[in-house]
Amino acid sequence: MAPAIFSALAFVASIQAGPTDSSQLVTREAWVMGTRLSAVVEAASLADASQASENVIREVERLERMLSTWDPQSEMHAINTAEVGQPVTPAPELAALLAEAERYSRTSHAAFDARVGALVDAWDLRGAGDVPAARELLAARNATGAGAMSIDERTGVVVRHMPPAWIDTGGFGKGAALRAAARGLEADGVDRALINLGGQLWAQGSAQKPWSVYIAHPEQRQRRVARLEVHGVSVATSGTSERFIEAEGMRWGHILDPRTGQLAPAWGSVTVVSADPVEADALATALYVMGPQEGLAWAARHPEVDALFLEAESGALAASWTGGMEQWLVDAPVPSTAPAQAPTQQVDTVRIAALERRIEAVTRELERLQLGRDVVEADSSIQGLGPAASKVYRVNQGVSLGGYGEFLYQNFTAQRQDGSRSGALNKFDALRAILYVGYKFNDRLIFNSELEIEHAKESFLEFAYLDYLLSDHVGVRGGMLLAPLGLVNELHEPPVFLGTERPVTENRIIPTTWRENGIGLFGSGEAFSWRLYLMNSFNGAKFSAAGLRGGRQKGSKALAEDMGVAGRFDYTGTPGLLLGLSAYSGETAQGQELGGQSVGGRVRIWDAHFDYKTRGWELRALVAGAQVSDVADMNALIGLEGAEGIGTDMLGWYVQTGYDVLRTSRSPHQLIPYVRYERVNTQRGVASGFSANPATDLTVTSIGAAWRPISQAILKLDYQIHSTAADTGVNQLNASLGWLF
Ligand code: AMP
Ligand code: MG
Repeated sequence: MAPAIFSALAFVASIQAGPTDSSQLVTREAWVMGTRLSAVVEAASLADASQASENVIREVERLERMLSTWDPQSEMHAINTAEVGQPVTPAPELAALLAEAERYSRTSHAAFDARVGALVDAWDLRGAGDVPAARELLAARNATGAGAMSIDERTGVVVRHMPPAWIDTGGFGKGAALRAAARGLEADGVDRALINLGGQLWAQGSAQKPWSVYIAHPEQRQRRVARLEVHGVSVATSGTSERFIEAEGMRWGHILDPRTGQLAPAWGSVTVVSADPVEADALATALYVMGPQEGLAWAARHPEVDALFLEAESGALAASWTGGMEQWLVDAPVPSTAPAQAPTQQVDTVRIAALERRIEAVTRELERLQLGRDVVEADSSIQGLGPAASKVYRVNQGVSLGGYGEFLYQNFTAQRQDGSRSGALNKFDALRAILYVGYKFNDRLIFNSELEIEHAKESFLEFAYLDYLLSDHVGVRGGMLLAPLGLVNELHEPPVFLGTERPVTENRIIPTTWRENGIGLFGSGEAFSWRLYLMNSFNGAKFSAAGLRGGRQKGSKALAEDMGVAGRFDYTGTPGLLLGLSAYSGETAQGQELGGQSVGGRVRIWDAHFDYKTRGWELRALVAGAQVSDVADMNALIGLEGAEGIGTDMLGWYVQTGYDVLRTSRSPHQLIPYVRYERVNTQRGVASGFSANPATDLTVTSIGAAWRPISQAILKLDYQIHSTAADTGVNQLNASLGWLF
């Protein structure tokens, strides 16, 4: 019998087959899995061959019913539409397949990832094709991969985490169907068969009588460029010229790079030969995404993978393959240059092709920069930092940027509490604008920093440190650190707290923003977090009757004669609740002497804090105190007298509550009326021979409202009633505009 020649759909241009003398050959074709299936089966009798080929079609149809993402009756469809957060245990066959897919996405570092459904939608790959807008692409990327849908590699249990997330079986489904069909052939006792499912092959046979398989030129499918002789393996080819969409005048392939959300560029094709059809299918897709260089390097590290890369550019062809591929390759591809053309035309073509490549590279780079590989939303606090400051902990790798800031308008009343003229002038200040820059070197080593411009012209390094994670729960930290006391010092991004101004307690007693150079340990468990730092202490020569604020050295050529220890412990086990204690102790004379005697000037600060957000309520309470020793000496050192002396004992506390009145409306906006009541006294005790200034005994009541159109932007308006024991209070109306990202 003459060899049967028929053309396959993909790059496999044609296949030659001939039955052994005594056997019968049956060829069947069917349309299944949205593509053409053909089966050539050799058996002892025509009836056996017919039956076996019929079984092949049935198996592929069965797998289609299981894996189809189009068919609302399929098991895969049920998983893809399962309730968010609800674990689904697929039937064993599908569970095993999904677990395998998960393994390939892990080993390929997500070059292959079946969880690309949201990106398939964004690019409209199942329709006419569409280039998504940057926002849409970002949203789709977030709904892609392990963060959007988890698959347990041991059990195949799937949990969807986001509504747009779904598994696209297109990258391994044909392989799964071919594997099932091949097992059927085995069961039917068929020794020789060739199944072609949309271009992926299963070649059942022996070394004595292998199948010839031609690989087509990636750009000109009718041209055969290589010949393989195969048996007992599957041959899968991935490329972009096979299926494509047209959008914005460009041709795009159907293979996505899940790592960037972009379509993989059209560079050629990759063919993988493997005894396991699922492996051939998944890895052909993965290697295509990696591209010829990275793909070949990956394949070289996985000697079990036999791969052939064909790079095509304007008719020119370059080929490369792994060592293992040689056993199948009978006629290796011959590299060729571009076909001869009129010289000028040829030069133009080459130049245009080079320009196109550059434009594509620049476009991709721009998109990457714009979106950032690691763009994360500033939405949750980590390691006790504000949402924007926490971003670096949530990126996968590389640079992260964030920021926050606030403008403050203050309108003071003309009269003081006692009726005299206040003389206070209204102010409108660009209070602060901040840029967070973080860099994640790897999973253990992180840099984070906050660069600040205050009052539009004073620049500060607010913090800058390196974190090294010793384990998942404990890390060491060094650099310029925020003292871990109170609520506002570490969580000072304006949209996070109510009130146009920071509480006075967390300004004078815990002198927010308080940062010094130091080293420390930090850690967290299921329901708690803690920090313990050794940092340079205050410079006590800058303390005043109004508190400790002036003593901050802010990391600038800080005197380090005296060091301090700061620590904190928080319970975080109830969502929305932060409940904890913090303390600090350190001497502050920084080497200064009085009459040849060294002075201590020890400062102890402590605080207890409570912050609870629940059902539209935002509740906060804090109490903080400070004790300073050797105050008479410190006063003498600085030259403070009478009622000007530093307090030996300071105490402040506040309670604050707000409620989102739009909570039950459909609006995403928040409108939060709030009140804060605060008492502070920075001279609760004074050194003997000194008196307390009653003006340092302060009560502030703030009444106002905050509007958050989104959680990262806030407009606050409040009225503050100030009263002091000396009747010197001046009320004020404040407005502030704040943001974080
Ligand atoms: P293949 O033809 O085997 O290379 O698979 C391509 C098909 O798999 C596409 O049509 C999509 O349905 C899906 N897909 C696209 N990109 C990926 C990817 N990076 N990983 C897994 N599946 C993908
Ligand atoms: Mg594939």
